[in-house]
Amino acid sequence: MSKNEKIEDIEELIKRASVYIPEEENIELIREAYNFADLKHKGQFRKSGEGYIVHPLNVALILTTIYSDTQTIMAGILHDVLEDCDCDRDEMEEKFGKEVTNLVYGVTKLGRINFSTENEYLIEYYKKIIVGMSEDVRVIIVKLADRLHNMRTLWALSEEKQKKIAKETAEILAPIAHHLGIHKIKSELEDLSLRYLKPDIFYDIAERLNKTKLERDNTVQEMLQEVSELLNEHNIPHEIKGRAKSIYSIYNKLDKGKKFSDIFDLLALRILVDTEQECYLVLGIIHSKFKPIPKRFKDYVAMPKPNMYQSLHTTVFGIDGCLFEIQIRTYKMDEIAENGIASHWAYKENRDAVANLQNTTEQKLQFFKSIIELNEDKMSSEEFVNSVKNEVLNNNIYCFTPKGDIIELPKDATPIDFAYKVHTRVGETMVGALVNNYIVPLDYKLSNNDIVKINTNKNSKGPSKEWINIVKSTQTRNKIRAFFTKSEKEVYLERGKEALEKELRRRKLSFSEFFTSENMNKIKNELHVDDQDDLYLQVGNGKHAAGSVVNLIYKREEDKPVLKKVNVKSTLSDADIVVDGIDKVKVNLANCCNPLPGDEIIGYISKGNGISVHRRHCHNLEYLDERVIPVYWNKETSDKYLTIILIHTSTKDYKLIDMLQKVNMFDIHVESFRTIPKADDTIYEVNMYVKSVCHLTKVIRELEKLEYVIRIERAIR
Ligand code: MN
Repeated sequence: MSKNEKIEDIEELIKRASVYIPEEENIELIREAYNFADLKHKGQFRKSGEGYIVHPLNVALILTTIYSDTQTIMAGILHDVLEDCDCDRDEMEEKFGKEVTNLVYGVTKLGRINFSTENEYLIEYYKKIIVGMSEDVRVIIVKLADRLHNMRTLWALSEEKQKKIAKETAEILAPIAHHLGIHKIKSELEDLSLRYLKPDIFYDIAERLNKTKLERDNTVQEMLQEVSELLNEHNIPHEIKGRAKSIYSIYNKLDKGKKFSDIFDLLALRILVDTEQECYLVLGIIHSKFKPIPKRFKDYVAMPKPNMYQSLHTTVFGIDGCLFEIQIRTYKMDEIAENGIASHWAYKENRDAVANLQNTTEQKLQFFKSIIELNEDKMSSEEFVNSVKNEVLNNNIYCFTPKGDIIELPKDATPIDFAYKVHTRVGETMVGALVNNYIVPLDYKLSNNDIVKINTNKNSKGPSKEWINIVKSTQTRNKIRAFFTKSEKEVYLERGKEALEKELRRRKLSFSEFFTSENMNKIKNELHVDDQDDLYLQVGNGKHAAGSVVNLIYKREEDKPVLKKVNVKSTLSDADIVVDGIDKVKVNLANCCNPLPGDEIIGYISKGNGISVHRRHCHNLEYLDERVIPVYWNKETSDKYLTIILIHTSTKDYKLIDMLQKVNMFDIHVESFRTIPKADDTIYEVNMYVKSVCHLTKVIRELEKLEYVIRIERAIR
């Protein structure tokens, strides 16, 4: 599309449309739409002084450059009729049908916003864009064409209006064009906004480009010749174009701190071939002749960008030592790179182009999903506006999954944002992340092209509340918040159920055996719970201990509720355990799990009996978050401590003496033991005193060398 191209005659448009719309009746419809609009706009003029009809006529012209279908072109011609003229929806519908009228109405609604604050305006605007896109993405395409023509004629307006419209274009419409992949329109919108927002910079860049143009053109031409001959030698049919960089893309690079000279030295070529294989073939041929710059090669063919863009990119040292940025793609990829979503129109093999257009928008474009999701979340209008503007439409980075899928994220996003973007479930079960094969902290700031692997654990208890402050994207934050608000109850329920199951398993009772209706009634009466779920909830939130629930039914195991069972050993000297922040306090080692020096431990503040120290993973502590306190082993301990181990053997022969002799040299003190005979084998429970986990491990290693020993575990009661 040549910029500033302008027509004043419907015949020009017809000529252009006829190139790709062969049906006479469709061309006739376009002509009718024009005659209707011309009549309705009679007597209206634009600020530029032209007859109003020139505007819709040129909007339609822009639409033909992306091969829009007949209805879209008609909507382009009619787009201002409902708004500005004496014509209502019914009249239009009767004349042109529902499809075209809905498109026009959609475009009209988008323009009809007037609010006092910028935020109110924006939130309304974004919402209308969402509605427009979800109903028919062609509404937005017409809007983009409308805006492009308005930008081309922006000179006619006051400076204040110029700036306002240019800002909106740069912040909203150009990014939307980008995300829809309509590069042709996007690029021109960007250049035009820059011209009005930062005229100094715009004209400075334009002038420098002009000055060096001749020289650059010559170098590009020479390189083009050379590459073309090279490809001919290999019999690869191709087309090569020298490629002008847009002023905006240069401005963008300068803005990121690059030097003028670096950018202007970069020359650009684009090579078009027929097939994907040829793309790689061409790449190989070029690299064998011209040295590539390391790390500048990008394969967007195998890994398309989220807006469907495909191409190979490489930078090589070309003739005269000039750097050349080379893009290699097929003709079809080129079509998609230029027209994005609109390329469905250009390919006639896509029978139902409009349906495909809509499907692709909704299924493939991540930004569309993101805006929809944001819209569904409850948040303040300010938050919504900022998230759409800063996280969805602008400042995106692109990272890869290990399989090569591209994930689009806001700038400075963390691995947590990445995980949630892949899938909420991935986020909720994530336990760590690797970026480019290195383990990174969860608050790591991702950069473009990072390869991110998320480690998950399906048993993970879910996200941490701290993540809310770490993550970058509002979407992620909302998902984490939702996890906590929505599911605190679910979490308790699940926990309670788990705790009861564990307790029943421990006592070798089956679930169904326990939850008979008779037992359930007893539990309901005693504990005042409504039903089984309510029971889980009460156990999960710590109101009832799983042990005491089971005890209501089965008293035969003579124990009291689990925590009371935890008697404590009082022989402990103060010096053994350091309690965080407290000097003199009574400390006991819990005899349910018998912690040893070297174990990770945690203190439980018991009522009136000081602090009892448990192993960190002792199940008796699992639901007692509030009353725990960090404790540590004193490094100087030299005592021995009680530990209980279970030795599983594969024989019914009595082997205890044998085993004790084996570990005699390790300086342990066996206090007591008992044998637990099983059908085919024997388990020995041994109570003994050892110095530390390390000491115990040596003993266990030695015992495991015995051929009849299957497995040894430390007991937790
Ligand atoms: Mn308009």
